Amino acid sequence: MLPVAEAEKQVLAAVRVLPAEDCPLADAHGRVLRQVLVADRDLPPFDRVAMDGFALRYDLWEAGIRRFRVAGVQAAGTIARPLPAADACIEVMTGAVLPAGADVVVPVEDVTRKDGFIQATAEARVAPGQAIHRRGSDHLAGAVIVHPGVRLGGREIAVAAACGYAHLTVTLQPKIAVVATGDELVEVSSVVARHQIRRSNDYALRAALIAGGQRHVDRYHLHDMRREIEHRLWHIVAEYDVVLISGGVSKGKFDFLPRVLDDLGVRKLFQGVAQRPGGPFWFGLSPRHTPIFALPGNPASSYICLHRYVLPALAQMAGLPPATPQFAGLTEAVKLPHELAGFVPARIAQDLHGGNLAQPAPLNTSGDFAGLTGTSGFVELPAGQREFPAGACVRFWPWI
Ligand code: AMP
Ligand code: MG
Repeated sequence: MLPVAEAEKQVLAAVRVLPAEDCPLADAHGRVLRQVLVADRDLPPFDRVAMDGFALRYDLWEAGIRRFRVAGVQAAGTIARPLPAADACIEVMTGAVLPAGADVVVPVEDVTRKDGFIQATAEARVAPGQAIHRRGSDHLAGAVIVHPGVRLGGREIAVAAACGYAHLTVTLQPKIAVVATGDELVEVSSVVARHQIRRSNDYALRAALIAGGQRHVDRYHLHDMRREIEHRLWHIVAEYDVVLISGGVSKGKFDFLPRVLDDLGVRKLFQGVAQRPGGPFWFGLSPRHTPIFALPGNPASSYICLHRYVLPALAQMAGLPPATPQFAGLTEAVKLPHELAGFVPARIAQDLHGGNLAQPAPLNTSGDFAGLTGTSGFVELPAGQREFPAGACVRFWPWI
């Protein structure tokens, strides 16, 4: 059985970054950027008025002049007007171009207005350059504002829109198949007999994948019949970019998957990881280089393996850098009944200094999917040790 770190390494070494495609800006949120975003003009692109008020010359203010003739109005979106005379001011609106010749803005709150003149109040204070955002003071034209390899959120979308990118180059969305296997499984809407259970893994895995930014995730169900698995999996492997299978990968008489995958030409990279839950995890590559993650069917096992191996692989395929690892201190001691790596669900809280505290919430069984609700993720307890004292600092994996 492979150590966890080795399994992770092999998965990440095997998957390739997906091709890029063009995407309209309005649909690009949540996608991974594959180009740079460059300021096509200075930001701000002109000397910008930052408050509603009156634009005038600071040297006159400094010379003690407090009364100015209002020579016109400069609204946002109009070309710059010149100050017609030294003693004049122009009424300006936030977002307008600073009138030519003016170098300060006195806010509307600091003046009284009468007969076409403004008079500054006694309390008014004016500093040089006040209420003006100078052209290029945020960023200069040509500056790279956003680098490739980020998931596009509101901030990056704002940059793209402001810099004239109506389309963006982003990573292709992979087509992902989530395949549940097992004769005991029935659809949620079906009548469930005493010896059957409702399918939950494929719903859970699909939901987490979509929460993680995936858009094309289809669910399948295969019975524990070698012929059916062979036939349908052949099509699925041919049609999808990533295949996740839950169940049928252990050592049972009807766990046909490893044999069938082998027959389909899928190259096994490993089977079995020294961890609990999720030990039977199987990973391989199709002849077309499609990664096939065959996860043990126990709900906690498949859900934990998704977070520990599949999501990091998908992030890398999307062109994202590795996520910064998170750590937490255990609030209480944990004893494991084995020396394999242990994945233990936990609730996260913060200590007085803002550090992570993980309160272990061990599951009753690896089938205890109900026990996962209310937890924030799981801690990874390294192999070779059975006892972990309170306060031990361990890796924490948040649920998506
Ligand atoms: P297996 O890995 O096929 O031996 O399955 C291990 C356990 O997980 C069995 O108790 C299965 O009934 C259960 N299981 C497998 N697939 C699912 C699924 N899609 N939803 C819920 N439980 C499942
Ligand atoms: Mg099964």
